[in-house]
Amino acid sequence: MKRREFLEGVFAGTAVTASSAFLWGKLNLRPALPVAEVLPVPPVSTPPVSPGSVVVEPVVVEPAPTSVIAPEPIRPVVVHKEPQEIAEDRAYLSKIQNFDDEHLGDIHLSPERLELLKATIGSLDEAQRLIGHGHFNVIGFDRMILVVNRYSRTGPFPKAHLDLIEELFEFNAKGYGFYGEKIVTRLTSTIPEGDIEKVPYTGHYLYKGDSKRLYKTLRRDVGETIVLTSGIRGMVKQTHLFMAKALQAKGNLSRASRSLAPPGHSYHAIGDFDVGKVGYGKRNFTRDFAETDEYKRLQDLGYVDIRYTSNNRFGVRYEPWHVKVV
Ligand SMILES: [Zn+2]
Repeated sequence: MKRREFLEGVFAGTAVTASSAFLWGKLNLRPALPVAEVLPVPPVSTPPVSPGSVVVEPVVVEPAPTSVIAPEPIRPVVVHKEPQEIAEDRAYLSKIQNFDDEHLGDIHLSPERLELLKATIGSLDEAQRLIGHGHFNVIGFDRMILVVNRYSRTGPFPKAHLDLIEELFEFNAKGYGFYGEKIVTRLTSTIPEGDIEKVPYTGHYLYKGDSKRLYKTLRRDVGETIVLTSGIRGMVKQTHLFMAKALQAKGNLSRASRSLAPPGHSYHAIGDFDVGKVGYGKRNFTRDFAETDEYKRLQDLGYVDIRYTSNNRFGVRYEPWHVKVV
């Protein structure tokens, strides 16, 4: 019921064309966009290369040692892509490169929902003020609501705000054009305090074990000019960030999801973290970070993987700062 209302709210005032809906359908059905198909090769002649074809390494077909059949000539193997697939591929890459633009098929909140979003962000801002920036990164929803209901000067958390939070969480993010998996399936999931550790002077937390070990090692190897810029994010934090991003995008939820994983879909919940150059400020969360010595040294280490590469298939912008742990 609620979910239905949300969908209606989402789609109100937005033009979702038949072609974009078709594109989603196609994308959802396929594991990855570049589905290559090797065509059967005619026996002797070289197959014509159509405009949508890519010629790859020639293959030498060797005759069997005892064979009396003459060796076949060297011939190219053609990997064929349908023009439509090539167009979809280009459109997809263009979207994640121009992630902060409006694109055909983007979905938006209706103006009324946008107002509700603004008010809900206000409630979460108040919660963050009460709880403190550091702890807000890892607190669960149930606990946050208790704190707000008890101590907030603005009163208990309004039901409409909680409903919007829940509806956003339940929404199928593939509808936005975000293709990452849903990692956390319960909005009220909590992070066990014993599993995490605050990283001094950063205001962020990391999981003990792999995350902490990797961070310590890369800091030892790169130097102290590289620092944690975002660690564990619980459901409250990710929801707050996503809503703020959606507001910044004037209610364009697709645009928001190209820069920030929707609630439940962020690997920050289970171990990934972001790093940046000390003193580099907001530029740490732009492509500029890839130009820093810190990033280059990070790459040279050989053991650090970046979660969202420039041609990732999650529907997300290039994030050279986001270190993959899990
Ligand atoms: Zn990140």
